[in-house]
Amino acid sequence: MKKLTIKLENVKKTYDGKNYIVKNLNLEFEDGKFVVLVGPSGCGKSTTLRMIAGLESISEGSIYIDGVRSNDLPSKDRDLAMVFQSYALYPHMTIRENISYPLKIRKLDKNYINQKVDEVAQSLGLSELLERKPKELSGGQKQRVALGRCIVRSPKAFLMDEPLSNLDAKLRVQMRVEISRLQKKLNKTFIYVTHDQIEALTMGDLIVVMNDGIIQQKGTGTELYEDPNNKFVADFIGSPSMNFLEFDSNDTRFNGYKHDFKLDRPVYIGFRPEKISFTKKHSDDLEIKSRIEKIENLGSEKYIYLTINDKEVLFRDFSNKEPKTKEEAIFYIDPRDVRIFDKETEERIRR
Ligand code: ADP
Ligand code: MG
Repeated sequence: MKKLTIKLENVKKTYDGKNYIVKNLNLEFEDGKFVVLVGPSGCGKSTTLRMIAGLESISEGSIYIDGVRSNDLPSKDRDLAMVFQSYALYPHMTIRENISYPLKIRKLDKNYINQKVDEVAQSLGLSELLERKPKELSGGQKQRVALGRCIVRSPKAFLMDEPLSNLDAKLRVQMRVEISRLQKKLNKTFIYVTHDQIEALTMGDLIVVMNDGIIQQKGTGTELYEDPNNKFVADFIGSPSMNFLEFDSNDTRFNGYKHDFKLDRPVYIGFRPEKISFTKKHSDDLEIKSRIEKIENLGSEKYIYLTINDKEVLFRDFSNKEPKTKEEAIFYIDPRDVRIFDKETEERIRR
């Protein structure tokens, strides 16, 4: 089968002719990949997805589908299926009628339609529910019907806008796994929008972090987590978030300990809560003298809140130590786990 390519080139979007919601976006979607667009609410994710779907015009720049500039190609001719947060099922139709609807309007053979619907229902675990109405289904089941209705069409790609945000936490975890599995099985391009960095990390082959209409960084989950390009990505990816301490270029000491960071300007020193340790592992480990303010025991780990220079720092402790609050204690950080950011531009300073 021919490979699908979708490419955005210098794409911009303004709704009012003044403010750009999407600013000069360049992005290529590889066939069969699961791409997640992630970023805080209002950063332009839905707008971007709707421009790809053809539901929103592109103000400047180009979209190429299979190498053809397609800015003016109507949505219905793009052969891309869109799954929304609201399931948009027809309430008066049975599940079978809902799933078969896209084939029925194409006036396909009735036997073919039934066979196709049975096949899709089987793959989504909906076989037993085909004669029910949407109101007799749970949220997760309705979301699966919405997916089924897209799958029967065999579109070139699936576009999904926060499809799990109406589901409760447990079901979200389950559907995350199901959608990932579905993508691998169909081997089609999925473009998935979410504000939830955990969804992004667990589902995406490629994760595109957006903020303020601009791509901040794209990469695998590991790349974004280990090697963030700027403070925004460092802060946004990973939960609980990275700790940041402001540092003046004159500070030759880190919490009283001499460090060898080459600082020629004010910076943020960033380190993740799980990279702090009670034990010294390397001779050059940074030593932190600190006070334990609060401890939350989560069973498998403890959240220990420390203060360093009056700034609160979170330490995720996986050891079986039993520290006490209001006590002074010494902690260690491997300097290789420290990420440094220019205080003014918030760009990463690499050593
Ligand atoms: P996200 O999906 O990342 O939350 P959106 O793409 O929905 O962000 O919105 C980005 C910005 O564009 C928001 O400030 C939003 O208010 C604005 N916006 C979205 N749709 C419209 C519209 N149809 N008309 C005017 N402004 C819009
Ligand atoms: Mg949105």
